[in-house]
Amino acid sequence: TAQNKTEDLIAKDRKYLWHHLVPYNEAVPPTVVVEAEGSWVTDSNGKKYLDGMSGLWCVNVGYGREELAQAAYDQLKTMPYFPLAQSHLPAIQLAEKLNEWLEGEYVIFFSNSGSDANETAFKIARQYHQQNGEPSRYKFVSRYRAYHGNSMGALAATGQAVRKYKYEPLAPGFVHVRPPDSYRRPAGQSIEEFNLQCAQSIEDTIIWEGKETVAGVIMEPAITGGGIIVPHPIYMEKVQEVCNKHGVLLIIDEVICGFGRTGKKFGHMHFNMKPDIITMAKGLTSGYLPLSATAVRKDIYETFKTSEEYGYFRHVNTFGGTPAACALALKNLEIMERENLVERAHILGERLRAEMVELLDHPSVGDIRSFGFLLGIELVEDKVTKDPAAAKVGKVIAECKANGLIVGRNGDTVAGYNNVIALSPPLSATDEDVDFIIGTLKNAIRNLQ
Ligand code: PMP
Repeated sequence: TAQNKTEDLIAKDRKYLWHHLVPYNEAVPPTVVVEAEGSWVTDSNGKKYLDGMSGLWCVNVGYGREELAQAAYDQLKTMPYFPLAQSHLPAIQLAEKLNEWLEGEYVIFFSNSGSDANETAFKIARQYHQQNGEPSRYKFVSRYRAYHGNSMGALAATGQAVRKYKYEPLAPGFVHVRPPDSYRRPAGQSIEEFNLQCAQSIEDTIIWEGKETVAGVIMEPAITGGGIIVPHPIYMEKVQEVCNKHGVLLIIDEVICGFGRTGKKFGHMHFNMKPDIITMAKGLTSGYLPLSATAVRKDIYETFKTSEEYGYFRHVNTFGGTPAACALALKNLEIMERENLVERAHILGERLRAEMVELLDHPSVGDIRSFGFLLGIELVEDKVTKDPAAAKVGKVIAECKANGLIVGRNGDTVAGYNNVIALSPPLSATDEDVDFIIGTLKNAIRNLQ
């Protein structure tokens, strides 16, 4: 029976598999997913769940896309692997396509993961300054609560203290500043004033560190994993101005916000800005195969071409940009264009927000934040003190799961701020899917004591 099969699978899982991030819990067995279609996944007992997190914020075109499997299969048969020290057709085609999506001139370096893409960006930024006669520029400024990856540099950029837990020393040279978490701004300050002050703290940090030591600033268009913290446009535009003024490269991490998630092709396109380096992963292949990219502004790349001493970038990634992953990514972008999924994300996001804001009258709902088809609901014990209500988030997640909806927990365990319920459903979700999300999540929150 399905039940026996599941018990067997879980016994083997516990024997052989070390899970990502989540602590071992004897009482809570992992959900073993065996099939998936559209926005829905099916577990080994045959129970269906709407995947309100698109896996880990990546399955943007939804599950079960035969075309993607076919694109990878065809490429694997024709030419399965060749390193990008030379070249191959799918990588060339995808790099060209990404230029269209980025609406600018960029040269693309392919890797495998978001962490890889960010590591690549840091090395490019440091080498860029070396080549331009400013060899002492090596530091990066990032924000508390932001997540940028698991490797020693990307984790150093990460501002969630829990991720550094006992793993230090990480790569040196990373400095953190306060994020524009407007919900927790000082009393009496307007959102605009607070956002400007947060952006100003980046300039202050650059000056205090010594601008001749700062290589770059890295940020997401909105902090996603750290609690869906959406900046006021004034913040991003000031950050751009500060980077320009001090010759600091602006690296935008579009790993989650890219590829339509926010209702535009890339999250930074909501703001008047022109990043020097853009990193992307997850939605590039909708999670069907690993692939990431570091897009570097053409004029920055040109200095690598012409530098006599350096001339090239000493960085290799064996599996970065495999032909099948590139072919699949191209097909993924074709599907997004054909089905207008960027526009769809905007429409669904507006609808979700309009429905969920009603919950602001609930005593535990402190704040509701959205950015396209990304939604965060911050639960608090008390609306005046804003004490985070992390345990209540656990209750909501469990009730949603029992009723067939997967939602995320989000924020940072530092000071208990992992009190945000996150939603990032497939951009291909149907109207009925969205109704189901709204109904199930509203009920779970309304049932909170
Ligand atoms: N940047 C951001 C904004 C992310 O959310 C993540 C992963 N959640 C990463 C980078 C790292 O990506 P990966 O797990 O593919 O290394």
